[in-house]
Amino acid sequence: MKIISNIDEMRLYAARLVKRGHSIGFVPTMGALHAGHISLVDAAAAADAKVIVSVFVNQVQFAPNEDFNAYPRPIKKDIKLLRSTKKVDCLFTPEAAEMYPEGYASHVALENSMTACLCGVTRPAHFKGVTTVIAKFLNIVNPDRIYLGQKDAQQAMIIIKMMRDLNYRTQAVICPIVREKDGLALSSRNAYLTPEQRNSAPVIFKSLQMVESMVELGERNAETIKKEIRRKIKEENLEIDYVEAVSAADLKPAEQLSGKVLIAAAVFVGKTRLIDNIIIDIP
Ligand code: AMP
Repeated sequence: MKIISNIDEMRLYAARLVKRGHSIGFVPTMGALHAGHISLVDAAAAADAKVIVSVFVNQVQFAPNEDFNAYPRPIKKDIKLLRSTKKVDCLFTPEAAEMYPEGYASHVALENSMTACLCGVTRPAHFKGVTTVIAKFLNIVNPDRIYLGQKDAQQAMIIIKMMRDLNYRTQAVICPIVREKDGLALSSRNAYLTPEQRNSAPVIFKSLQMVESMVELGERNAETIKKEIRRKIKEENLEIDYVEAVSAADLKPAEQLSGKVLIAAAVFVGKTRLIDNIIIDIP
């Protein structure tokens, strides 16, 4: 596995792969890698000849009051894990000073209702930071496919829309959420949890799972379903940022559940904000 930190070197390496006729699968991450990230690597290796993974904690997607400084950066461990898969051809670890040099002033922002809902309500500048860094990565790596997790469903949909709007050739592949045995979605932020908080956190997924049984029993009213999710999460005394039911096609609020619906929640477990979701297909 080659490790590249320099942008021009990365661009050259990727261009050479394309010239040799290889397809490139790209997996962008912020590091502190876990089995969820590795599932994206697996998917990329299954479909593409060459796999490039990036590890970059992208400051511009964090608000000043968020956890940019505290975000875990176990780069040696990440390198070891990526090497152990034997599926990664190149790790790209750019320096912040080269990605955003002094005087940097260009941003890519998706401007429609997709960025204003769900996580966009309490993290208003977040997605602008995400689309900016992904656009930069696409320009550098020029991959055939980008691999994204359903864990960040809103982020994935926004990236797909941005790529379509801006005529990127890259196709997106969305991979399922990898979970702990007790249902908690794997997240680099789970490392912040105390043992007690770790015990409470699985209630997030359990409350979402409950929706599946409610829908099976015929419930279609989004408000009733959201109320039940909130009630269950509050049983663990966790603070809710949001619980929403939206169309999985365009993130517009769903009042009556029908078609593909994204049920998404953001919950504070102590100071740690965790997100999770399920997509249900209602005939
Ligand atoms: P992050 O390092 O948190 O920015 O995540 C990098 C990529 O990994 C994103 O596309 C995430 O959606 C994906 N990801 C994170 N956690 C999981 C998980 N538990 N299962 C599947 N994909 C995940």
